[in-house]
Amino acid sequence: MKVTELAKAKINLTLDILGKRDDGYHEVEMIMQSIDLTDQMVFTLTDEPKITIECDVSYVPTDERNLAYKAAKLLQQKFAVDKGVHIVLNKKIPVSAGLAGGSSNAAATLRGLNQLWQLNVTIDELAELGSEVGSDVPFCVYGGTAIARGRGEKIERITKAPPMTILLAKPQISVSTAVAYQNFSMDKILKKPDTKAVISAIQNQDPQAICHHLGNVLETATFAMHPEVEKLKEQMKSFGADGVLMSGSGPTVYGIVLKEKRAMRIFNALRGFCNEVFLVRTV
Ligand code: ATP
Repeated sequence: MKVTELAKAKINLTLDILGKRDDGYHEVEMIMQSIDLTDQMVFTLTDEPKITIECDVSYVPTDERNLAYKAAKLLQQKFAVDKGVHIVLNKKIPVSAGLAGGSSNAAATLRGLNQLWQLNVTIDELAELGSEVGSDVPFCVYGGTAIARGRGEKIERITKAPPMTILLAKPQISVSTAVAYQNFSMDKILKKPDTKAVISAIQNQDPQAICHHLGNVLETATFAMHPEVEKLKEQMKSFGADGVLMSGSGPTVYGIVLKEKRAMRIFNALRGFCNEVFLVRTV
């Protein structure tokens, strides 16, 4: 028996940090949006209770460090499952890019194994379990558009953002989320995102207003470590993208482009100096 799931990447329409908590995490408020850049995952039932992973990208760990493995192990233990699974993971989402690729793989594993192992767990329960694997996992269980609070694991689902065309460009560097947060300080915030304005723009299905209010307080920390990310943002803006922002802790920069024709032109221009460029849509 086999189950196939698509793991969607996410972008942050906003990322705000409200403070540092006693447990070391930051209290965040983020508007998350899933996009149709996906990894494919195929789950095959095995009689042996082992969890094995095969991945087409050599630098992604396939052992217990893989977030998909962690999610599978959690379900297996929680529900005393005596079966196992072989997971084939085809990666398209760039790794360590600010697009929640690993978290999305964990979320797809929770959904896929819920079917494969016939667990009948509700989506809300899956999201709650996901928070034990990683802060971005609960959002990835649902997808769509949502506000994430707490350390990112408390999800309030909202009306889906209007369909938008988005360009993603990932410079050839990796940014560790932990290091970006370490380099962040509340008194270095230049501009806070207007989360409320983005929420009303989503409710009004107004892409122009969404573009106008995008914001991410982690940009300062990542730009200081990697000036090329800021340069890429400026470049995307100068090519004519309507709203430009770094996603998560970076280094991926995205641009919302309101006119499809212009998106193709900017896509081609970006490919001239960035070899990981994607043209995607909100989903
Ligand atoms: P976020 O935006 O949530 O910080 P990210 O997109 O920056 O995530 P990921 O692609 O999720 O980062 O990967 C970060 C780290 O997790 C990498 O060091 C990678 O080796 C490890 N990892 C574990 N499982 C996976 C997975 N299934 N896919 C990709 N990376 C994984």
